[in-house]
Amino acid sequence: MIRLESYVLDSWQPGTGTPRTLLNPATEEPLAETSSEGIDFESVLNHARVVGGPNLRALGFSGRAALLKAMSRTLYAQREHLLDIAMANGGNTRKDAKFDVDGATATLAYYASLGKNLGETNLLQDAESEQLTQSPRFHGLHVWSPREGAAVHINAFNFPAWGTFEKAAVALLAGMPIITKPATSSAWLAYEMVKIVIDEGILPAGALQLICGSTGDLLDHLGPQDVLAFTGSADTGATLRGTQGPVSASSRINVEADSLNSAVLGPDAERGSEIYLAAVRNIVTEMTQKAGQKCTAIRRILVPEALLEAVEEDVAAELDTYTIGNPTEPGVRMGPLATAGQLRDYRAGVATLAQEASIVYGSATEVSPVGVPENTGFFAGPVLLKVEDTQSAVAVHALEVFGPVATILPYDGSASEAAELLARGAGSLAASVYSSDKTFLRELLPAMGPHHGRILVIDKKVADTATGHGMVLPQVVHGGPGRAGGGEELGGLRGLRFYMQRTGFQGNKALLDRLLS
Ligand code: NAP
Repeated sequence: MIRLESYVLDSWQPGTGTPRTLLNPATEEPLAETSSEGIDFESVLNHARVVGGPNLRALGFSGRAALLKAMSRTLYAQREHLLDIAMANGGNTRKDAKFDVDGATATLAYYASLGKNLGETNLLQDAESEQLTQSPRFHGLHVWSPREGAAVHINAFNFPAWGTFEKAAVALLAGMPIITKPATSSAWLAYEMVKIVIDEGILPAGALQLICGSTGDLLDHLGPQDVLAFTGSADTGATLRGTQGPVSASSRINVEADSLNSAVLGPDAERGSEIYLAAVRNIVTEMTQKAGQKCTAIRRILVPEALLEAVEEDVAAELDTYTIGNPTEPGVRMGPLATAGQLRDYRAGVATLAQEASIVYGSATEVSPVGVPENTGFFAGPVLLKVEDTQSAVAVHALEVFGPVATILPYDGSASEAAELLARGAGSLAASVYSSDKTFLRELLPAMGPHHGRILVIDKKVADTATGHGMVLPQVVHGGPGRAGGGEELGGLRGLRFYMQRTGFQGNKALLDRLLS
């Protein structure tokens, strides 16, 4: 069994104490073990601040962009090996694994190309300067500079590759050294990717440290220049926000948490139309990709009453084509959930939803996976529900069942009712709207804005070329208000700002322009 070591203070440390075991969720075979016990976390933070930060800042944006490019290429060269690990430890199908691993290398490549054009400086001008007094010389301008602390990244189990490297790409380009911690149950992939980057000698000393296992007392030592970017459940996010270190030092925190994301079929989404077919395609993909374990997955499907029967039938027919089982078996299109705990939560969650909704497809207790012995693995079948009374339903807007589960909410086809229902999710990462009806969209989209981080609008002109509902692209912001964590990542250069300090400078414009560009 492989031992996942942590990479701290520029060396690999195996950790002491009783290790945690990582399993193959399809076969329950132990694959790896890990422990971070014995690591001096205060020294880890200091190493990032004192060694990693200065090394990165010495390179300027374009130098750091070159590092990202090298990371992307090196990891891509090991793609097949990485896909195998994702399939074994993550229960991913090969397609799921590609989504994660390719997402990581593509995001690194995107930020490499963005950074190449920013030059050798470490500073970013915010916007045009403004004249502050009668003197045309005296201006105010805003400049971003890299924070001089460590960026601590804590990630969820479902995207060990993308989650680790989308954060790494942005922080490193901004000029901050990182200490990254993957979720333990699926840490092997992130470990392997970090190991490849370290072995290749791409990054300067102190720029990248990896913790496999618990973060111990690391967060208690966060200081005023440090940042914490967390992705995971709302409960853990709330706990971490209250940790003494960040609270007393006002360390910056970004939380990406869970979300009841939606798909809205407009009144014009006639059965068989391009927008209708795109909706069905996205609903089924979101239910089955990574076995529905995606923070952006569609959980609530708003369907005009006239289309209910059609949507139920067409989604069900598509789900029928999915073979569930060991991802290494040919023909398998959906793998298991990640852990026994996730399976328990899925079953309990479906039971809760079923108190206010009827199950119109599938079952949370019966599943027949292929390629594994009976009663082995954490398999969950897709379950489609429909609420009985849209106005009184509560759980569908409050409970994220992190598996292949979605619920239909019949609505009257008006923008006002759709907007009101969507807002009950208390803040979501992503929604997709399927309509070409400008009157409907004109009312709905602005009303949805405050409650969502990202909205995909599919009209008939983009129905066949649009990206999928759940695909997070580095060009567009990721994050959402309220229960989604209130955070924001990516979005091109916008993402860098979390890792930088904006300072307002007032003075002689010509001088400041010369000194700060
Ligand atoms: P989780 O249980 O909250 O764990 C997330 C991470 O936090 C893991 O690395 C975990 O480490 C760590 N952690 C837990 N308690 C901690 C503590 N006291 N101090 C420091 N670290 C701690 O979430 P999960 O089960 O991995 O992920 C599923 C959830 O994440 C879902 O709700 C999903 O919606 C959400 N998610 C959100 C996004 C997004 O971008 N918004 C993306 C993906 C997933 P261990 O594994 O070692 O316990």
